[in-house]
Amino acid sequence: MSLSLIARSITESPTLKLNETADKLRQKGEPVIHLGGGEPKSRAPIDALVAGAGLLSSGEIRYTPPDGISALKKAVVQYTEEHYGRLMSPDNVMASSGAKQAIMVAMQAVLNPQDEVVYPAPYWVSYPEMAKLCGAIGIPVVAEDGGFQPTLADMEDRIGAATKMVILNSPNNPSGYSYSREFVAGVVELCEKRGLYLIMDDIYHRLLFDGRRPISVYELAKDQSDGSKLIVVNGVSKMYAMTGFRIGWAVANKKLIEAMTNIQGHQTSGPSALLQYAAAAALTGIQSGVESLRLTLENNRNVLLERLQAFDGVRVTVPHGTFYSFPDFHAYEKDSVKLANFLLDKVRVVVVPGKDFGMEGHVRISYCGTIKDITTGLERIRWALDPNAPNELYIGQRKLVRDWL
Ligand code: PMP
Ligand code: GLU
Repeated sequence: MSLSLIARSITESPTLKLNETADKLRQKGEPVIHLGGGEPKSRAPIDALVAGAGLLSSGEIRYTPPDGISALKKAVVQYTEEHYGRLMSPDNVMASSGAKQAIMVAMQAVLNPQDEVVYPAPYWVSYPEMAKLCGAIGIPVVAEDGGFQPTLADMEDRIGAATKMVILNSPNNPSGYSYSREFVAGVVELCEKRGLYLIMDDIYHRLLFDGRRPISVYELAKDQSDGSKLIVVNGVSKMYAMTGFRIGWAVANKKLIEAMTNIQGHQTSGPSALLQYAAAAALTGIQSGVESLRLTLENNRNVLLERLQAFDGVRVTVPHGTFYSFPDFHAYEKDSVKLANFLLDKVRVVVVPGKDFGMEGHVRISYCGTIKDITTGLERIRWALDPNAPNELYIGQRKLVRDWL
């Protein structure tokens, strides 16, 4: 079979693959604890369910404009005004099948083969692959101190003549780290100075802890014109617990939105009509679910931190938001793929290897599940790795014998 160069260069999404692995093991009756997931477990907002069901029962489900239905675009305008303090026009908005597609189409609209896309490490697994899908090259910027936020000088060093775009994701998947206002402001200034596109991947924007407030990138930008190269991406997946609805959006200058809409119009047309109505209803309906999700996640994070701090060898940076933590396990095992496989094999706990996010020695542990998932999962991990952990572990009725420490 002769596949294209692009198809041969793309790897499977490791995060989606782990969901499948966990499902398959569960179907076989294995007592798997999935701490690798990237989706909240709360129910989608009732307004979304009612709006979607209403349209479904009408049977009038047709194509929508390729940039999305007017109700959703208006809801995004309202959302942007309320949460970013910036009044946009519906012509500045394109709805997509998930934030993932919004980012992909934005890249397709601006990148040429061999262009470079710069982003801090650790980074979301899809950025390098999306760049490759455009024939472009992803350039991760690693902080010299081993932390989760590079310096501005580090960023500037990696920006060269071929750089066309920068991506920031804050709070960040996988680290949960929220970049400082100074850092984001510095990157905005750098991009404006160099004429670079800047994607703010704000999919976890309001899922912040300890009283932190989300940063509005529009407040930091000097260029307030409609020629600005700022692209703000968001969606209903995380904050509204609507991952399977697959609705996201991009907010950007009108010319860029027009170009992106042309691309999307040929690729997929507008997103599903049903789910656009549901997403618009989530954005304009009762908002209490977002805050209750945020509070649940903050509590889950605290429980996880307490458990992680019981390990002698684990170093953990307190996550500022999201539902991920990215502890450093290298005292136990430097190779994160080996470590993740070991944990799955020995104690049936799923975590995501740091290697997939561009940072070895770490694993991503999610806390979007139940408290029981977190405590039992961490008890199993500790038992598998830490010689100071109690010797006995039961998984269901099975008593495990630790013969490798
Ligand atoms: N950006 C980041 C950083 C993510 O973690 C995700 C999760 N899949 C996305 C974008 C895409 O979200 P979705 O396509 O579900 O809207
Ligand atoms: N973004 C989530 C994660 O990182 C969902 C999976 C994906 O889309 O890659 O786990």
